[in-house]
Amino acid sequence: MDGEAFSRRAAEMADFINRYLRDIKEYRVTPAVTPGYLHRLLPSEAPRRPESWESIMSDVEDTILPGMTHWQHPGFHAYFPAGNSYASILADMLSDGLGCIGFSWAASPAMTELETLMVDWLGRMMGLPKEMLPYTEGGNGGGVIQGSASECTLVCMLAARAKALNELKEIYPDEEDCVLLSKLVAYFSEEAHSSVEKAANIAFVKRRKLPTDAHYSCRGETLRKAVETDVEKGLVPFFVCATIGTTGVCACDDVEGLGRVCSERNLWLHVDGAYSGNALICPEFRYLLRGFQYVKSFNFNPNKWMMVNFDCSVMWVRDKHALTNALTVNPIYLQHDNEAHSIDYRNWTIPLSRRFRSLKLWFVIRMYGVEGLQQYIRSHVAMAKRFEALVRRDARFEILGDVVFGLVCFRLKGPNNLTESLLRRINQSGKAHMVPASLRGTFVIRFAVCHPDPTEEHVQQTWGVITSNAECVLFEREVVVEKLRRLFSKYKENRSRRPIRILGELKKNCIEPLGPHPKTCRR
Ligand SMILES: *Cc1c(COP(=O)(O)O)cnc(C)c1O
Repeated sequence: MDGEAFSRRAAEMADFINRYLRDIKEYRVTPAVTPGYLHRLLPSEAPRRPESWESIMSDVEDTILPGMTHWQHPGFHAYFPAGNSYASILADMLSDGLGCIGFSWAASPAMTELETLMVDWLGRMMGLPKEMLPYTEGGNGGGVIQGSASECTLVCMLAARAKALNELKEIYPDEEDCVLLSKLVAYFSEEAHSSVEKAANIAFVKRRKLPTDAHYSCRGETLRKAVETDVEKGLVPFFVCATIGTTGVCACDDVEGLGRVCSERNLWLHVDGAYSGNALICPEFRYLLRGFQYVKSFNFNPNKWMMVNFDCSVMWVRDKHALTNALTVNPIYLQHDNEAHSIDYRNWTIPLSRRFRSLKLWFVIRMYGVEGLQQYIRSHVAMAKRFEALVRRDARFEILGDVVFGLVCFRLKGPNNLTESLLRRINQSGKAHMVPASLRGTFVIRFAVCHPDPTEEHVQQTWGVITSNAECVLFEREVVVEKLRRLFSKYKENRSRRPIRILGELKKNCIEPLGPHPKTCRR
């Protein structure tokens, strides 16, 4: 393919993407395929000779699209949104076209400097403490774009670990590293994202999962008790990960309370705001910054809720040297003359090579403006509130947790298996897609507002899919319950041993064996 052909194909590709997004509602939101479907459709060996563009694109239509879960579909309410906008797509295209790898300042000065400027812009847009921003005079703060929130949490934990080990070595200079490492304990709530536990696995440290309060929020006092218990055992608490906007139910931990304990005990407090952190660009959410004076590092994903395509996860640290101390290795082929006066982001991340990700931020922020992005966040919150109102109006359903951002956790009243059946039916319908969460053992369905331009009509349509399937689930239950009741009465009259078993079945479904109506129960 030469440059001229590229220009033509690029224009065709833009049309293809435009049509795809325009007609996306015609697809099933989740595909009707089984594992291995693609292997059955495509050749098992790579082509020896070049193939035509047309044949590749026709395979995209015939084999790839039928196996896609369509994240930009109006019926997609699973996980969290996958940020997407034309501004971001075009910026990524430019990044690919420039084809640079920006591991150091010298490897591409514009790449490094735009990244620093974007994390500074974002930090100001969100009202973060000045000491965390890169361009604050005399500060030690800084920010970097990582590929994912998981990496942000991991590198911050590694920085905290290096710092804690250094401090321990001063006290116990003769002790082996592995002995000191075995003392370290990290803390996070039972609602924290699985990536925090994964980070603790990789960092090879002990961890405590802390219980949460009635709002699924982890409190300072809970941390204090856990830390005291561990200190009594001779262990060394070193790291706490708080969450604003947990993945399950979008709960916010008590950052201020946790922060006070961290400050008293010299613990590194990291805040994971992968999804909800985006809301900080709206002043009405700035209350979430309470306690940030104690925060050592913070991350959020513009690729979740700021119309920036994956991958783009931004993090800040109060002390950039604590981070680079943990990650710097400096072979001669990577050194350059301006090291003292520039940032080498390879020392802030696990991979060496880095994409030009800040272009996406720059394009999106400029093409929407801060006000446009605020409007986008608010439109999602408004749709979540609409959905919440629909659920609350229907006595068969209940909501768990507070609806603050773009997520609503709901369920059918009664035993978990009703909501489990409901979710299975919804996802099989191909009209809407949601995933569950388990909140202290209670099964809920997560309704996340994901479409880039969500409308009331989308919400109504999804609610229609939910209620029609709920009617089937409840009707099926009625039939089963009737049958069980009849059997129960029959065996009881004959004094058979079987009613015990049937009684068990009824109890499991929270049904009174003889009552005229199924009685709903809590959980
Ligand atoms: C989505 C999410 C993550 C994981 O994000 P990645 O960027 O995929 O690693 C971590 N924490 C929270 C709270 C999340 O919602």
